[in-house]
Amino acid sequence: MTAQPAAWRSADPSIVSLPTLPPAGLELGTARRHAEAIHALLPQTQCTRCGFQGCRPYAEAIAAGEAEINRCPPGGLDTLVRLAALTGRPVQPLDPACGSEGPELVAHIDEERCIGCARCLPPCPVDAIVGTQRRMHTVLVELCTGCELCIAPCPVDCITLLPRSEAKPTAAAPSPAENLRRYDAHLVRRGHREQARLLRLAERKARADGRMPLPDLRGDAP
Ligand code: SF4
Ligand code: SF4
Ligand code: SF4
Repeated sequence: MTAQPAAWRSADPSIVSLPTLPPAGLELGTARRHAEAIHALLPQTQCTRCGFQGCRPYAEAIAAGEAEINRCPPGGLDTLVRLAALTGRPVQPLDPACGSEGPELVAHIDEERCIGCARCLPPCPVDAIVGTQRRMHTVLVELCTGCELCIAPCPVDCITLLPRSEAKPTAAAPSPAENLRRYDAHLVRRGHREQARLLRLAERKARADGRMPLPDLRGDAP
């Protein structure tokens, strides 16, 4: 019988709301359950500050023993303590290489300077920016997680971060469950867009190769 590694015994029995972990083993199903339990504790901003491409890859790396539990600044000490309780690993300071815990921030677009290039739209994991090509864009503060992913792509540096309390004091921060639901919807939309793009490419290539006739538009003439 495989012994249960100490890392999977709760270090703090007072934290009773954490999921009960199944006996640890090396099989894939168990690793997935561990990753799910860890994933459920993460804030779901998908900010990548942990060094992974989102909360789920980070959870999987912790479950696999490939990452420390102190790499999530948005979750801060609260999440760190919960992860320590879940995994039995010691609480340790946040890794400064990932950033530091701070006040809740939200993105703000200087609409005077925005050129409407729309480059900030695709990177937003929760689709919190609205606007179209050549029109100024704006941030829906209620949805914004402050992940910062929209800032680097902006060619005119007109996106800054403000404390949530300053931007819109009445807007509460979205919950991790809401963030995850919007991120999943974002991924579905992104998948549809990519499929449509590949289809257009395939059609164009088929026309260029003469494998698809050009559409006869004569009947459409007014
Ligand atoms: S919220 Fe935490 S776990 Fe999720 S991507 Fe950001 S740093 Fe990583
Ligand atoms: S608007 Fe910017 S900071 Fe806010 S969630 Fe979207 S990408 Fe992140
Ligand atoms: S990337 Fe910057 S300039 Fe372009 S639409 Fe977004 S905020 Fe406006």
